[in-house]
Amino acid sequence: MNRFDEKVVIITGAGSGLGYSSALQIAKEGAKLTLVDLNEASLEETKSKILEVVPNAEMLLITADVADEKAVENFVNETVQKFGKIDGFFNNAGIEGKQNLTENYGSDEFEKVVSINLNGVFYGMKYVLKVMKEQGFGSVVNTASVGGIRGVGNQSGYAASKHGVVGLTRNSGIEYGQYGVTVKAIAPGAIMTPMVEGSLKQMDPVNWEEVGKQFVQPNPMKRFGKPEEVGYLVAFLLSDQANFINATVIPIDGGQSYKY
Ligand code: NAD
Repeated sequence: MNRFDEKVVIITGAGSGLGYSSALQIAKEGAKLTLVDLNEASLEETKSKILEVVPNAEMLLITADVADEKAVENFVNETVQKFGKIDGFFNNAGIEGKQNLTENYGSDEFEKVVSINLNGVFYGMKYVLKVMKEQGFGSVVNTASVGGIRGVGNQSGYAASKHGVVGLTRNSGIEYGQYGVTVKAIAPGAIMTPMVEGSLKQMDPVNWEEVGKQFVQPNPMKRFGKPEEVGYLVAFLLSDQANFINATVIPIDGGQSYKY
């Protein structure tokens, strides 16, 4: 018996990085998946990579912007129509935004980052938790960040949104625990995904790999995390084995939390 046999899981940001690696892991363990991303081509790529490993995987692909409340309501409804329930929700899509000092941080950029990373996470919880409460079971995993627990610098929008995700997690976990539904967040440190590559390239477009080596020196493990390492954690947190973990934030950062 696999942990996700007969289970239905929605994953946002499934076209890349942590969303993709979690989708692959959970598909390997038997889940039916709704995969959501803004980028249709990357969703198709995720689907074919999963099918190479799990040829009978059942997947519903939905191109949607998580910052659009109607689109979020729609992917939740479509999931329930197709699969009949929602066991797990990896509320993960997010962007970093352009790095800048607070005084130079564009107000438009701030609004954009917050609307995807925070409003988007809220919309997802709003519609999924209603379904899970009625069912009497379910697990939500929100993607926060080390930047949701401490300051990183040059990331006003990211810091505000990820601290907000931690707040939403603690708040809703307390509300929904009584219905058999848990809400938790992960706080990844630097995991080598296209987002982090983009971030290093913002710091130095040419020598970004060298910048990356310096960047991980304060980490006790002196390396970036791997997306599949996050996939294993997300699969555990969405499984029934984590049913008593609620309203809390789990770091996955090689021990960098010693700085918090
Ligand atoms: P990524 O860029 O590799 O993947 C993010 C995916 O989200 C992309 O496929 C993108 O198309 C999608 N996306 C972006 N905006 C969207 C929107 N408005 N609606 C729907 N989909 C959208 O990045 P990643 O590193 O896998 O990041 C995933 C999550 O993890 C993000 O919330 C990010 O903030 C968080 N995170 C990442 C790291 C890291 O080191 N990689 C660390 C901490 C937190």
